[in-house]
Amino acid sequence: SLALGLTAAALYGGWRLLRAPALPDGESQPPIADGVTGLIGNTRLVRINSLSAATGCEILAKAEFLNPGGSSKDRIALHVVEQAERSGGLAPGACLFEGTSGSTGISLAMVARARGYACHIVMPSDVAVEKSQLLERLGATVERVPPRPIVDPGHYVNVARARALAHSQGFFVDQFETPLNFDAHWRSTAPEIWRQTGGRLHAFVHGAGTGGTLAAVTCFLKRQNPEVRCFLADPQGSGLANRVNHGVLFADTEREGTRRRHQVDSLVEGVGLNRLTRNFARLLQGGGPRGASSLLDGAVSVSDADALSMSRWLVANDGLFVGCSAAVNCVAALSIARHLGPGHTIVTVLADSGHRHLTKFWSDEAMAALGYSVKVPDSLDHFAQL
Ligand code: PMP
Repeated sequence: SLALGLTAAALYGGWRLLRAPALPDGESQPPIADGVTGLIGNTRLVRINSLSAATGCEILAKAEFLNPGGSSKDRIALHVVEQAERSGGLAPGACLFEGTSGSTGISLAMVARARGYACHIVMPSDVAVEKSQLLERLGATVERVPPRPIVDPGHYVNVARARALAHSQGFFVDQFETPLNFDAHWRSTAPEIWRQTGGRLHAFVHGAGTGGTLAAVTCFLKRQNPEVRCFLADPQGSGLANRVNHGVLFADTEREGTRRRHQVDSLVEGVGLNRLTRNFARLLQGGGPRGASSLLDGAVSVSDADALSMSRWLVANDGLFVGCSAAVNCVAALSIARHLGPGHTIVTVLADSGHRHLTKFWSDEAMAALGYSVKVPDSLDHFAQL
């Protein structure tokens, strides 16, 4: 017992000798979050060091994978639910319905749980399986339907709308068309980028899944400073880049979905469109969609091979493990940096992390089966110039 006493005394003495770390300045600490939704937004900007060093530009990215639901879609999920609660559209017992390739569903499922609603997600059967597993763990009902054109009643968005109508307390979120999508980014993502850069940015580039982020950030930045150049990053197979660069967007008939090719033929999930959504249409100026000019300064088309290589480059050189739309954005940001020349600040978005893509985009075996041999590129010369 003497030995024990001595040991205890020695431990106590040793503990007392440890100096307490200086307490951080209370003023500069973020406040305690009021539940999980309090963690949404105010994500940091991260400098992508390898791309910045190689181009002489500041290439900065909004680290949206830091949101609690793992993507930028947390912002719209929270905003839609809050606005619906305010307008009386959501009451206890309500069920949120949405058609989504994954991220929006995960964010909705999380917000629904936090606020006491049910959630039913309809998704195409070809998206990475970890997304539906995650949705189930978050308590959502998941329905996977075969990929179909938007005009087909079996398309995942149409199935979600029909299910909401059939439910006595169904609420259809409708991310592609609802103005609340644009509003969420107009109120949060866009002013955050402006504040975090002190307004000192030359260009912004991002893909379009619904178009909500790109439209809101572009409209906001151009209102603050019309000199800021805004670009679309578009995966292969998407119909947007070509149209943006040639000044012709979609005809009214295409809005209704009469085009023959509706599927975006790309490995990249979450971005790329072959139809005009109301959220993307916020970028159009004057007249109807045909021939209307867009607020965008241009579009960069990104091949799947380049997106894959960039994802492997970023993890090998920067330790950034990102999802496919983030890789597309970074290929485009690199092209724009080379095009503008050294000394420019370019902002993009890392919408989600690689965790959500382990069985597809981040599986070398799955990629090899599709004919891609995925290697870390030796240098950035590997990537095509604008
Ligand atoms: N990246 C990912 C991973 C997404 O899921 C989405 C949305 N589908 C986007 C980017 C594009 O965002 P937005 O819908 O605002 O165009």
